[in-house]
Amino acid sequence: MPPQAPVGSGRDRYPALPQPYPTFPLALHDPVVLTRQICDVESVSGNEKDLADVVEGALSALPHLEVVRDGDAVVARTTLGRDRRVVVAGHLDTVPVAANLPVRVVGEGAHAELWGRGTVDMKGGVAIMLALAAELAVPSYDVTWVFYDHEEVASDLNGLGRLARTRPELLAGDFAVVGEPSNAGIEGGCNGTLRADVVLTGVAAHSARAWMGDNAIHHAGEVLSRLAAYEPQTVDVDGLAYRESLNAVGVSGGIAGNVIPDRAVVTVNYRFAPSRSVEDAAAHVREVLHGFDVTVTDAAPGARPGLDAPAAADFAKTVLERTGGEPAPSTAGPTSPGSASWACPP
Ligand SMILES: [Zn+2]
Repeated sequence: MPPQAPVGSGRDRYPALPQPYPTFPLALHDPVVLTRQICDVESVSGNEKDLADVVEGALSALPHLEVVRDGDAVVARTTLGRDRRVVVAGHLDTVPVAANLPVRVVGEGAHAELWGRGTVDMKGGVAIMLALAAELAVPSYDVTWVFYDHEEVASDLNGLGRLARTRPELLAGDFAVVGEPSNAGIEGGCNGTLRADVVLTGVAAHSARAWMGDNAIHHAGEVLSRLAAYEPQTVDVDGLAYRESLNAVGVSGGIAGNVIPDRAVVTVNYRFAPSRSVEDAAAHVREVLHGFDVTVTDAAPGARPGLDAPAAADFAKTVLERTGGEPAPSTAGPTSPGSASWACPP
C-alpha cells in the first residue's frame, strides 16, 4: 500500500512531507522524517524484507561503510583500523499493526508527536542508528551497526541470535549497545534466574483414618514460611543495584478429596544478581531451604553490566552528561539473545 497523507499538524516543527512521500531514498540526515519513512515500511516479524532492502540500499550508498546482508539482517561496519570496536544493534521488526500505520503526527509545535506502529519499539531508535551510521564517517572507535530481524517473536528465530551462531565475526567488538525503548537511559546487565522444585513427601492414607498417614502438603507450610520470611538482598555489581527475589511460583499436591497426600511440590524462582554464578544461586536456595529436597529444574546466569570497561564508562558518562540519565539495571531476564546478556561487553 503506498504511504498515505499523514494527518494532524505540528508542521512548524516537522515540515510537511510530499504527499505521498517516498520511502526511498531515506532522509538519513533528518531523523524525524526518517522515522516516518521507516515506520511506514511495514515490518511485522517475518515480513522485514522490504525494510531490510531499504536499509541495505541506503547504507550501501555510503562509502565509509562495509555492508553485509544476512537474511533480513543488515550489518554495516566502519573499517578504520581503530584499536577498539563498538557494536550497536537494533531490531527492524515490530509486533502486528493495529490500524496504526501510516504514522500520524499528533499535537502541535513543541508538543507534536509521531504516533504509529514501531515509532517507540524501536524504529525511532533505528532511525537514530541510521542517521548516526551516515554521519559518523570517522568515529573515534570503529563501529558495527546491526539491524536485525525477528526480535518480537520466539527467541530461536531472533536474527541477532542467528548472527551470533552463524557469523559471530560480524558481531565482534569490545562493547555493545542493544537498542530498546529506555527513554535514552542505559539499562546494564540483568539478573540471573533459577527455578527449583522442593519435593515434600509423606505417607498416604485414607482421610477417614488420617492418623495412619503423614500429610506432605502440610510440610509445605515450613517451606512457605521460610520464603515469606526471606529478606531478598540488593547487590551492587559494578555500581548498579540489582534487586534479588526468591518466591514460590507454584504449589501442587493431592490426588483426591479423601486421600492424605504423600507428595507435594513447591516450585520456587530465584532471581539473582549477576555477580552470583548459577552454582552459587543453587547453593543459596538450598541453604535457605535447608532440610528439604531441592531439585534445580532450570537456570540461566545473569549478565554483568560491565560498566567498568573503558568504552562502557565513556558511554555512561556521555549519556549522563547529555540526558541526566544514570545507568540502571535491566529488569528483564536473560531470555533473548537479542537482550541483555548480549548487551554486555565480553
Ligand atoms: Zn523492541
